[in-house]
Amino acid sequence: MRANCWYGKTQMRVEEVPDPQILNQRDAIIKVTSTAICGSDLHLYNGFIPTMHKGDILGHEFMGEVVEVGREVTNLKVGDRVVVPFPIACGNCFFCQQQMFSLCENSNPNAWMAEKMFGHAGAGLFGYSHLTGGYAGGQAEYARVPFADVGPTKVPDHLSDEQVLFLSDIFPTGYMGAEMCDIKPGDTIAIWGCGPVGQFSIRSAFLLGAERVVAIDRVPERLQMAEEGGAETINYEEQSVYDALMDMTGGRGPDACIDDVGMEAHVPGIAHAYDRVKQAMMLETDRPHALREAIMCCRNGGTISVIGVYGGVIDKFPMGSVMNRALTIKTGQAHVQRYMKPLLQMIENGDIDPSFVVTHTMSLEEAPAAYDMFNNKKDNCIKVVLKPDGNGIGAAVKDDSYGVH
Ligand code: NAD
Ligand code: ZN
Ligand code: ZN
Repeated sequence: MRANCWYGKTQMRVEEVPDPQILNQRDAIIKVTSTAICGSDLHLYNGFIPTMHKGDILGHEFMGEVVEVGREVTNLKVGDRVVVPFPIACGNCFFCQQQMFSLCENSNPNAWMAEKMFGHAGAGLFGYSHLTGGYAGGQAEYARVPFADVGPTKVPDHLSDEQVLFLSDIFPTGYMGAEMCDIKPGDTIAIWGCGPVGQFSIRSAFLLGAERVVAIDRVPERLQMAEEGGAETINYEEQSVYDALMDMTGGRGPDACIDDVGMEAHVPGIAHAYDRVKQAMMLETDRPHALREAIMCCRNGGTISVIGVYGGVIDKFPMGSVMNRALTIKTGQAHVQRYMKPLLQMIENGDIDPSFVVTHTMSLEEAPAAYDMFNNKKDNCIKVVLKPDGNGIGAAVKDDSYGVH
């Protein structure tokens, strides 16, 4: 089959690899109809996540048709149309029983690597380094899905791939980011990052009852999409985020702040240079500018919801501000399985149509160009869907039917 493989920093190749096979009786094989590139994939693309091997198949947002099931998968049959959640979870362990699926104790065969780095291991993840299990990802024609009796969710035919694909990751992720804010009527939620995940946090915060959402980024088309979702916006290159937020909240600060940026945060000026140098010298592995700013801006007693991915250690973390002002920090890889059915119901009810975020549809063969475009925000790219069946070959198709933003 054809698959998009990692060969080093900014080196992606679509090449011929062996077809996946059923290895355990709880596996299923999915023929991928749509797959997407996530901001988390950019941390791999830019070489920030350790334990990647040349030839690893990327991708953790995918959906398609079941073409084969192991004997113990009784809830799915060949021909079912499913969306696959990015964390791999057994459904039976201590954490799965508490619906903390991204912490599954049974799905990461390389737990020892993660234990060395983090003290304890999280779940296995598709296409996301050997630290998280070394599983082949879904930017491919086919994918093996372990614990297929737990993860994949059936989706009805009247919804398009673009309406349901993001149940695999960014919709539940953005939603969990907002849910961790414990939103009460009247609350103002500030959100750093208007990438695809930020866009879903904005809409989820409103669905969960926020009165105001303030979204922060510097990319004009992303700020515009945030405004279309009802947010007020701050362009951090044009004004001080702290001053603007204090103006908007009568000097108190937002009730909760969501970091939807993560380890590759950018900021103009001296602070950015400082973090870049430290990161390059491996003195800190992540650039936590957005997180620091979110902490400093949050009102006393408020919540910091960290959805942006961090890989290692950070420097100049304002712990004094967290402690003295009684802030609560909540975080995690999204427990996607927990949210898939309720969020699918919201899509069916018409509360939200996740396809709004798609700006580009390309073929799987164009994956290297798609990464370059998404990473460098070329052609106003916000979210790319890749089609393994070749639809769109030869051109970066900007399809009006997906909604141009
Ligand atoms: P993205 O890279 O498209 O979006 C990040 C956005 O942050 C960009 O628009 C960028 O301009 C903006 N940004 C950079 N520095 C900023 C700053 N200082 N202040 C405000 N905005 C800033 O990625 P995405 O797909 O939206 O993902 C966002 C983050 O969420 C990534 O770190 C990704 O790894 C993470 N993520 C986490 C989970 C999870 O389960 N926790 C799941 C999916 C993605
Ligand atoms: Zn992701
Ligand atoms: Zn488990």
